[in-house]
Parts: sequence; C-alpha cells; structure tokens
Amino acid sequence: MRKKVAIFGGTFNPVHNGHLRLALDLVQQLGFDEMRLVPCHIPTHRADPGVASARRAQMVTLGIAGNPSLQMDDRELVRGSASYSVDTLSQLRAERGGECSLTLVMGLDAYLGLPQWHRWRELLAFAHLLVVNRPGYQLPAGGELAEFDRIYSAGAEALSAAPAGAVVHLDIRALDISATEIRTLTAAGLSTRFLLPESVRRYIAEQQLYGARDDC
Ligand code: ATP
Repeated sequence: MRKKVAIFGGTFNPVHNGHLRLALDLVQQLGFDEMRLVPCHIPTHRADPGVASARRAQMVTLGIAGNPSLQMDDRELVRGSASYSVDTLSQLRAERGGECSLTLVMGLDAYLGLPQWHRWRELLAFAHLLVVNRPGYQLPAGGELAEFDRIYSAGAEALSAAPAGAVVHLDIRALDISATEIRTLTAAGLSTRFLLPESVRRYIAEQQLYGARDDC
C-alpha cells in the first residue's frame, strides 16, 4: 500500500480547534499515515503575522501534545527564507521518493487565493491538493482557478491511487473558528475558552500575545 502523507500548512496565529479537529477528522476519514502541521516562517501572501514563527510553532507543539497522529514540522522555520509551499513540497518529495502520496491540505478560503501563490501550477507535480469547505466561502463559477479545478478535480480515491496530481474537494465538518476571532477576543479582554486547546490559551496569556492582559 502506498504511504499517504498530509501536509497542513498555515500561519497558525494561533492554532485553534478548527485546525486541530479538521486534521484529526482527515486522519480518521482518509487514513493518512502522517498529518504534518507546517507553520509558515515568513508568509508571502498575507500581512506579517506580528508573532514570531518560533512562537506560532510552539503553540502548534502545545496544541498537538498527546496526539501521536499529528506532527509538527518546522521545515519552513529551519529554511529561514520566505515560505513557499512549492519549496516545502519539493523538499518533501525529494525526502520521501516518487511513490509516496503527498497531499497539501487547505481550506477553501486559502484555495481561492491559490493563483497568487509562487509557481502555483507546479504544486500538483509534487502533491495532491485537498480542499476542505469552510463556512462562508464558495468556489467561483468562472476564472482561471475554476478552470484549473475542472481539469484536475478527482474523488478522494485519487489520494491513494497516485503520488500527486489531483485536486480533491471534501465536504467535511469545519468548525466556524478563525485565528482572527481569537486575536480579536483576546485584544478585547474577552474569553477564548473552548475555541482552542487550553495549553495554547494559557501560553497566549503568559506571553501576553495579541494584547492579552489577564487570563479570563
Ligand atoms: P486567520 O483568521 O488569521 O486568517 P485562520 O484561522 O484562517 O487564520 P490559518 O493559519 O491562516 O488560520 O489557516 C491555515 C489553514 O487552515 C488554511 O488552509 C485555512 O483555510 C485552514 N483553516 C483555518 N481555520 C479553519 C477551520 N475552522 N476549518 C477548516 N479549515 C480551517
């Protein structure tokens, strides 16, 4: 059987239960052998996150602690340059060889911005794309992304059938939680309890991230 490795990249500013439950659901429903959470070091298609990548990675480590089916992958921090997914995937492909199935996981919100990514059409040479729904987002009917999507769309079995090359859409539970909401609540002095792991919530309070004052 072909090994199936998922790569879930993000700013994780901070990581929250929307990310973590999704990662676990994907492992359980699609049978990934590895689910690697990859915090970006320097994001290239969004504003500076304002929180150093080492701290965002630390929150991922805290958030996944005790869950052996989820792994932290710090390769974009180690690389130290602008974080391009195409570089991350080509590095993983070189490490794992040609037969392993690699899948880059992203929410539909992220997929809609794909044509702005560096060398985006080359991503499929290294991996599949797995696009999960996210409340409030829809794929447009026309345009270059819609055309790309029509050409490469396949069912979930493509993730096991080939090492790379398909775009798979999955209608799966997506908790309506965003990092933006967590930062906003924190800055307003309101509680973020039950939206993210308690260990991450405490780290934010201790490190006074996002304007955190008292632990509430
Ligand atoms: P922000 O609010 O700062 O934009 P975010 O909550 O969208 O952050 P990111 O770290 O930017 O989190 O997201 C990383 C990846 O996780 C993206 O592909 C995004 O689509 C996906 N994602 C984030 N939150 C959820 C969620 N609640 N359900 C499903 N996917 C999510």
